[in-house]
Amino acid sequence: MNVNDTEVIFSILEKAGYGRTENIEEASVILANTCSVRDNAEQRIWGRIDQFKAVRKNRENVIIGIVGCMAERLKDSLLEKHDVDLVAGPDSYRTLPLMIGNITPGHPQINVLLSKEETYDDIVPVRTDKNGVSAFISIMRGCNNACSYCVVPYTRGRERSRDPKTILKEARDVFDKGYKEITLLGQNVDSYFWNDPETSDNNVNFAQLLEMVAKIDPTLRIRFSTSHPKDISDEVIYTMAMYENICKHIHLPVQSGSDRILEKMRRRYTREWYLERVEKIREVIPDCGITTDVISGFCSETEEDHRQTLSLMENVGFDFAYMFQYSERPGTLAARNYPDDVPPEIKTRRLNEIIELQGRLSLKSNENDIGKKMKVLVEGPSKKNPDEMCGRASNNKMCVFPRKFPDGYVSTTDTEEMPGIRKSGEIRIGDYIIAEVTSCTSATLICKLI
Ligand code: SAM
Ligand code: SF4
Repeated sequence: MNVNDTEVIFSILEKAGYGRTENIEEASVILANTCSVRDNAEQRIWGRIDQFKAVRKNRENVIIGIVGCMAERLKDSLLEKHDVDLVAGPDSYRTLPLMIGNITPGHPQINVLLSKEETYDDIVPVRTDKNGVSAFISIMRGCNNACSYCVVPYTRGRERSRDPKTILKEARDVFDKGYKEITLLGQNVDSYFWNDPETSDNNVNFAQLLEMVAKIDPTLRIRFSTSHPKDISDEVIYTMAMYENICKHIHLPVQSGSDRILEKMRRRYTREWYLERVEKIREVIPDCGITTDVISGFCSETEEDHRQTLSLMENVGFDFAYMFQYSERPGTLAARNYPDDVPPEIKTRRLNEIIELQGRLSLKSNENDIGKKMKVLVEGPSKKNPDEMCGRASNNKMCVFPRKFPDGYVSTTDTEEMPGIRKSGEIRIGDYIIAEVTSCTSATLICKLI
């Protein structure tokens, strides 16, 4: 989401006459787009600000700005304590050119107003991806949930959904520019809802939006993130099953396997509910990739709660997980109401057990794919071996495969229902290929071209 916000900022600034540079030494404005979700994300920014100040020492007129969630959370204390020139929260990016223009020595600028309407829906983001294959499109902003550990509702404000017409326009636009994959973004995509101001006949929910985007072209892949277990509907699951180009992957953050902790986190679902949603996904889409987020050591978590998390992970057999230690965020419900009482060494030990288990689960899940055929969208050269290429299968697993079909080989794979597949010759970024999995690691499927 921050990458996409950065793309929006580039667009706003380009319109105002600014150009982008990758070279900090020639920048006249340096902005850091920041995250507040965990303390370590914030800690990294302080070092960056010191680097920026070293640049400003040599060139007095350089402007240093902090934008995004840290700007929203820390507000004018950033100006006072950290001597930056500009502080701009996530809903204030349209005012950036004006703010930058108004900065004079000793007169920094700040705008941290949150909005109930801003979705930047008319702004065409300047894409920053390197390969021209995958693009992010924000479909909503903010969050109306109040998970007790989470700072997002405070830094990004109330949830608002973007007009579907502007989402479709942006999606068609990126497809016309050659992109092959779109990821629809929101903190809780299942609660996307567009209330048409003119007639309720035109209201659009997330399943309907997914279908509209999928219909743009069968060679355009659709992904989305993040789904909330309490809100993911059967309608969304059935819509995914209906369209080949909606990728068969759901990121479904569970956070904990203990009902007591889930209640304390205010996630508003139980272990049983979560497992039922997974069962439904698997019943309708048997080959769906399911990934998750897990937090270790939330307030008052006992060994038994931790074991419940491990057993849920084992029970689901997640393909992949993002795993974190609980990090208390000032001002959140948890920080105000519950002591952060799991000692750091216990948080770390539990996190290591979670990571170790997920490593085994990922390997097992990948081993189950050996022998399967995958449709893969080629993203670029493999990082480890320049003679190989890599790309993702529909279930979001990373695949590596040779750069070329053998000379004279033409694939006879039946791809009638899958348009746009390369069957011979040299493979290029943005191609679709059919790969057969021959072996794996816990992170990668190793494939041959067929
Ligand atoms: N909206 C998404 C959802 O509800 O699943 C997640 C958004 S959050 C930016 C991404 C992940 O960061 C969460 O799923 C959670 O695992 C983790 N996270 C959020 N707050 C955290 C905290 N205070 N400490 C540790 N991890 C946290
Ligand atoms: Fe944070 Fe919960 Fe909203 Fe996700 S759903 S952004 S974890 S408050």
